[in-house]
Amino acid sequence: MPIREEEKMGLIEQIETKVKQTIQEYKLFTKRDKVAVAASGGKDSTSLLYILKRLNYDVSAINVDPNIGEFTKRNLENLRGFCSKEGIPLIEVSFRDAFGGSLCHLNSILESKGIKLNSCTVCGVLRRYLINWIALERGFDVVATGHNLDDEAEATLMNIFRNDTMRFFRQGPVVGVTTSPKFVQRVKPLYFCTELQMTEFSKALGLPVIYKRCPCALTSYRNQVRGFITQLEAINPSVREAIVRFALREIAKRDVKQEEIKVCDECGQPSSGGLCKTCQLLKTIRGDNHEGVSG
Ligand SMILES: [Zn+2]
Repeated sequence: MPIREEEKMGLIEQIETKVKQTIQEYKLFTKRDKVAVAASGGKDSTSLLYILKRLNYDVSAINVDPNIGEFTKRNLENLRGFCSKEGIPLIEVSFRDAFGGSLCHLNSILESKGIKLNSCTVCGVLRRYLINWIALERGFDVVATGHNLDDEAEATLMNIFRNDTMRFFRQGPVVGVTTSPKFVQRVKPLYFCTELQMTEFSKALGLPVIYKRCPCALTSYRNQVRGFITQLEAINPSVREAIVRFALREIAKRDVKQEEIKVCDECGQPSSGGLCKTCQLLKTIRGDNHEGVSG
């Protein structure tokens, strides 16, 4: 059943207000900051671009194409159209330009060297690396990502189930606990917006996005956790918000001392010790020659 015009307007206003409140309450950024949105062309990051533009923030989009075929190609075309219509500057970079190959190619290099990792892990690590690098080069103050409440509730439970305190305490609308000149702060303005709300929001506005999950996504464990939370939702409709609010209170209580945080020997990013995951991957992919990123 199509939603009525008033309901549409109500939903749009509700989401915009929630995002505005999150930005202000958690001091994510101000009107003076140069904000880069990590934009995939999907519903969450495209909605985020739309909202930030409407709220008059100085916003640009950075797209990293992992070159996995039709899916990312269509997403990028949608994003180009959207950004040009909304007057949002778009910076594009691809895995092929930056690392000399597509995600599948890079995965096969890693596998040939005995490193077997989930494709989403490799993609995520490399995309974060490139977005940080571009944001730093172009003088952005902050990188905003489209992670929503469902993503965050799942991640919180996964960290608990893995007994991973380090990651648990690095969560929140403001990511991480260290400030480093090598890293641009990452923030999550959609932290309290659910997946369903973002789907309805983007549909109500008719944003040019495709509602398919990435064909490379093989995150069966995350899917199980998602299914588990959805079951709990039948008993407690606000279970996702309860999970993240609980986590945020614990994070706020903890007085993290800088010296307690171990950092990567190479790049200074928080790490469990030695080289961080990004530096390990980059080293393997580049075959130990310390070339900078091109493109
Ligand atoms: Zn590192």
